[in-house]
Amino acid sequence: MIENQGAITRINGPVIFANGLKNVQMHEMVLVGNEKLIGEVIELEKELKHIQVYEDTSGMKIGEPVIGTGSPLQVELGPGLIGNIFDGVQRPLELIAENYGIYISKGAHLDILNRQKKWHFNPNVNIGDYVKGGDIIGTVDETEIFKHKILVPPDIEGKVQEIYSEGNYTINEEITTLLSPNNNSIKLSMVQYWPVRRPRPYLKRLFSEELFITGQRIIDTFFPLTLGGTAIIPGGFGTGKTITLQQIAKWSYVDLIIYIGCGERGNEMAEVLKDFPNLIDPYSQKPLMQRTILIVNTSNMTVSAREASIYTGLTIAEYIRDMGYNVALMADSISRWAEALREISGRLNEIPAERGYPSYLPSRIAEFFERAGRVKVLRMKDGESNVGSVSVMGAVSPPAADFSDPVVQNAKRIVDVFWALDKDLAFQRHFPAINWMQSYSEYVEAVKNWWITNVDIKWEQYRNKAMDLLQKDDELRRMVKLIGTDALSDNQKLILRVVDLIKEGFLNQNAFDKIDTFTTPEKQFKMLKLIIDFFELSSDIIQERIPIYLLDNLPLIPKLNRMKSKIPNDALIEFDKLENEMVRDLKEIKEMGAV
Ligand code: ADP
Repeated sequence: MIENQGAITRINGPVIFANGLKNVQMHEMVLVGNEKLIGEVIELEKELKHIQVYEDTSGMKIGEPVIGTGSPLQVELGPGLIGNIFDGVQRPLELIAENYGIYISKGAHLDILNRQKKWHFNPNVNIGDYVKGGDIIGTVDETEIFKHKILVPPDIEGKVQEIYSEGNYTINEEITTLLSPNNNSIKLSMVQYWPVRRPRPYLKRLFSEELFITGQRIIDTFFPLTLGGTAIIPGGFGTGKTITLQQIAKWSYVDLIIYIGCGERGNEMAEVLKDFPNLIDPYSQKPLMQRTILIVNTSNMTVSAREASIYTGLTIAEYIRDMGYNVALMADSISRWAEALREISGRLNEIPAERGYPSYLPSRIAEFFERAGRVKVLRMKDGESNVGSVSVMGAVSPPAADFSDPVVQNAKRIVDVFWALDKDLAFQRHFPAINWMQSYSEYVEAVKNWWITNVDIKWEQYRNKAMDLLQKDDELRRMVKLIGTDALSDNQKLILRVVDLIKEGFLNQNAFDKIDTFTTPEKQFKMLKLIIDFFELSSDIIQERIPIYLLDNLPLIPKLNRMKSKIPNDALIEFDKLENEMVRDLKEIKEMGAV
């Protein structure tokens, strides 16, 4: 028997056992059965190899062959990635447009990116240049809004001996030849490969102070993320995980979005497939797919493909990061991924830990989020952007919305931002249903300078004041439950009224309203300033013992409640008008009361 060929001895759903494979390594890709399904070695036990198969194993029989490929499960990287829809092991999905179903044929497709398509290549190096991993050989305008930089693969260096001139080439063509330090000739095309489970190297990790703009007010203003940051959004069914992640995907101010639909209910994936191709990028007015890659596992795909999808997405994200770009990766949901881990672990007869999850769940979750970050990329040549980032966000859907769930708890320990969804808020149709008392962001201090430099010097002051009011409101509402509103002072009543304004006029944001769906940081600040200024001016009035009911019928109040959907992002002057109106009205009340 050939050294890298063995035979199936047992089949347990997506996990198979094979013997006779002498030379295979851990994580090596293998072709399983007569149909040559893609599999990966996940455990080596002397003669017996445990393999997870990424396709449906039904119909497969004991004794069928298993062949080692000699290389790890890897991702194909090059022009053709953008706008594509892949499954968990990067097989391109073909959409059947009529019913948004998806179709994929069984068996190995070793070519992932299109081999026929010609790309317009622009060289960036000259003969005689010395280049190292990460240097840019040339560029391809892959879409109208995405410039694909063709990089020297991380572990390669040499002197340019040959470089194709500007022109149209397929990804098969060897566009450059390098002479390595030990005088080997290395031919490079526009494609490179990288093992999915190994992080791509970079020069160094950077501290990030750049705001990750989502246009979602409760996020950017209260619980911000940074470029390169990590966040989870846990919540029960129907609390808005998917909508929130999709909102972030649509509106985030980054170069590329990778959206991993990780085995949620089949119809939700169909929605993603239906929605994304129709979205328009708000920054360029071009289709959003021109800077998006979708990775989709529907529930009818094997659990192992779901497990792998996270790594496939991360590896593509790191490759784009290495071009000097900011990438946002969102996974919906990590719970489904963890369940896949649990199922595979069960089929391997491993001893289960907490709630049936394998004991390595915490380390796997940590490994996932640790691949996020803002980094100085590998690059010797100056003159090109050499900083890139991968920001990672995951939805978590714990059973019965129970946050003591091991996936929530283990992820919470690792990430820096926690957007806790609240079923009571969702029930009241307050969206995003992010609970402001339970959520947190470790980046508030880090993004302060960004806000000061780009928006307003008083950002922190206004944010803190609003946060303080929200906390006081929480205490007051508990008190009101015991003793009723009548016992409250006018000062306390004012807090309740202003927090109603913060909730309705600021925090509540309708994803389906044309204007409200996205708020620029500038508009967010103007809105918050108006509400907080209203509080300060009204406090002065109450100080003068003027009765609070005089404030109730001001025409200004409904205007503050509706400014989110009435004033577009580019009409900021309207906020100044509102501010003038507010100052005038409150001055009148003060003068009236003083008489
Ligand atoms: P989950 O993924 O947590 O099950 P979804 O994201 O599907 O929940 O949201 C459930 C419903 O809540 C949506 O169909 C929508 O009606 C509503 N919803 C959630 N977020 C928003 C939002 N930002 N604006 C308006 N409606 C929302």
